[in-house]
Amino acid sequence: PKVGVGRRCGAILANLGGYRGLLSEEMYEELTALAKSVQGARICHVNSTAAGGGVAELLARYIPMLQALGVQADWRLIHGEPEFFAITKSFHNALQGGHYGLGKAEQDLYLTVNERSAKALGNDYDLYIVHDPQPAAIRHFAGPRGAKWIWRCHIDSSAPDKDVSHFLRPLLEEYEAVVFTMDQFVLPQLASKRIAFIAPAIDPLATKNMELSADLCRRVIVDSGVDPTRPLLLQVSRFDPWKDPLGVVRAYRLVKEELPGVQLVLIGAMAGDDPEGWEILDRVEEEAANDPDLFVFTNLSGVGSMEVNAFQRGSDVVIQKSLREGFGLVVSEALWKEKPVVAGNTGGIPMQFPEPFQKHLVDNVEGCAERALHLLQHPGERGDFGRAGREHVRQHFLMPRLVRDELRLIRQVLG
Ligand code: UDP
Repeated sequence: PKVGVGRRCGAILANLGGYRGLLSEEMYEELTALAKSVQGARICHVNSTAAGGGVAELLARYIPMLQALGVQADWRLIHGEPEFFAITKSFHNALQGGHYGLGKAEQDLYLTVNERSAKALGNDYDLYIVHDPQPAAIRHFAGPRGAKWIWRCHIDSSAPDKDVSHFLRPLLEEYEAVVFTMDQFVLPQLASKRIAFIAPAIDPLATKNMELSADLCRRVIVDSGVDPTRPLLLQVSRFDPWKDPLGVVRAYRLVKEELPGVQLVLIGAMAGDDPEGWEILDRVEEEAANDPDLFVFTNLSGVGSMEVNAFQRGSDVVIQKSLREGFGLVVSEALWKEKPVVAGNTGGIPMQFPEPFQKHLVDNVEGCAERALHLLQHPGERGDFGRAGREHVRQHFLMPRLVRDELRLIRQVLG
């Protein structure tokens, strides 16, 4: 495997003008003023995957937007062998509360890859923003370079496995600042110089979220073999136990007892740093093998952002039955498209729901089926929910707000 840190640049230069209609004048002024105040500083974002999962999704749009604002920002990836990513996936699960018997060999490999990555990263930046546990030890190995460091945690780490928490905590305490999505997510006993809370956001102008005609969405859906005249449920998620795809299948089967025409589409990109995903994909495909109304699509079969967009727009109810969730960009993506969402009552999901519709947050398979069936049978309520959802996302979860919050923090950290 390739070892070191590779460079990933924003492919699309964000068109700032396109946001003007979505932003208040005040927000636009603050954004441009903040960008000016950090001009000249070289900023580097570091994570472990360029595709698959919310962090990659976010950075692919966030970095070009910073660049369009005149901020010097790069995106670099760490590389590691599959064993490294198996360990970091376990860290991820352990921070979310799963048990992990962390041994010496795992610690050594984790630290070795991080040390190698720190060397490969070089010395060219004034500020590093390191995402999630995979590259978290880079700061430790970077030594005193005069640069500032921020660790950005996208996970709910409030009830972590003790050993993993004990191992990671001192590494994280070396950062000038740490960022969590919500105050409830902070790793217990973390003694940081500065802790900030910033929620992620979606980009309304990205291919994933741009307006598409109903006719185009219908064609994409028909082309995939799905019947657009029958009710359609959708979950878009990595094949991960915390996203509970098998629970979604069980909920869909319960809905089908009442509404035989219902169909379920599961879309799941396979991420390079997610070995567990392949196993779950196998199990989901087994479920689909004997059910002509259950469809499983992945990026491997050519389902990319545009298709996800079309399916989100073309489905009747979007499901996100997470058992734990850092944020769940897919929830905002669906609400932005005025789709009703039935989702796990966990982590960063509830804050994305407009208050009157929080009754569609669920705790189990039966609840998920009951809420989905209810919404399928009440088109008026679906419309109300969707419209309220879009307005809520417009106010709180669009990219310019995220860029503003992060620039505020960057300015403080750079001093
Ligand atoms: N996604 C995608 N194709 C897929 C599965 C997911 O494009 O097959 C995208 C999805 O639209 C969202 C991101 O990947 O933008 C997943 O982010 P989220 O925060 O929901 O979950 P994470 O994977 O980070 O836990």
